[in-house]
Amino acid sequence: MGFREAVRDAMIACWDHKNEKETAMLPKGILFDLDDTIIAYSAGAEPTWQRLCNEYTAKYELCDSSVLFNTIMEINRWFWSDEERHRTGRNDMDNTRRKLMTSVFQKLKLKAPCAWELADAFSEQREEAVYLFQNAVETLEFFRRSNIRLAMMTNGQSHKQRAKINRFGLEKYFTTILVEGEMGFGKPDPAVYYRALDELALHPEDVWSVGDNLEWDVGGPQKLGIFGVWNDHGRVGLPSHSKITPDRIVHTISELMIDKS
Ligand SMILES: [Mg+2]
Repeated sequence: MGFREAVRDAMIACWDHKNEKETAMLPKGILFDLDDTIIAYSAGAEPTWQRLCNEYTAKYELCDSSVLFNTIMEINRWFWSDEERHRTGRNDMDNTRRKLMTSVFQKLKLKAPCAWELADAFSEQREEAVYLFQNAVETLEFFRRSNIRLAMMTNGQSHKQRAKINRFGLEKYFTTILVEGEMGFGKPDPAVYYRALDELALHPEDVWSVGDNLEWDVGGPQKLGIFGVWNDHGRVGLPSHSKITPDRIVHTISELMIDKS
């Protein structure tokens, strides 16, 4: 064997050992959230509103664009801050956005009949603005190659969630995909986590749950004994008042390929 071959073999042996070490402590299964975990969802919202506020205030001479934008943000914050409003709202998203925009127009005393048109434009452009996080697919491929069973648990309506899953070709990575709108219940209902464990045929202690929502993806699963990983995709840090302490915090799911549990 020549020197070159010897170096190459040594490098391969070293790499194999490294991979073994990195994957040795990985779980048997992972429950993944979709929005803001595998795909960037929130990031597109404010720029889309900004653009539409500029467009509609100019087109219909409504009011100052920033006044419209700030009122939309304020009413959205109020509406989505309530657990029950959130649950019913996200399961009828397009109508919810129309109702919220009607409230915005009433608050600003705007007479132009374009509230629903604006809400619908947002609904359409918001979905178009989503994109895969960098290395998300490589991460899912890595876990599939490593024979780790994957489940997706995603809240929201079937047609909206499935459109994103299909658009990015995500179905093939998952043993099961649980969509709130198809089951009639969603996270943090423990029935979702139990269903995912059943479908993967795994025990809670063999599984991680990974997502951006502290209650739905971390705290809820932890109550069942599942290892809870918080995806702090915005790098905002754990809120000081948080009652939930994640078992691990990552900023992108690709960090999960290197075990630190
Ligand atoms: Mg999410």
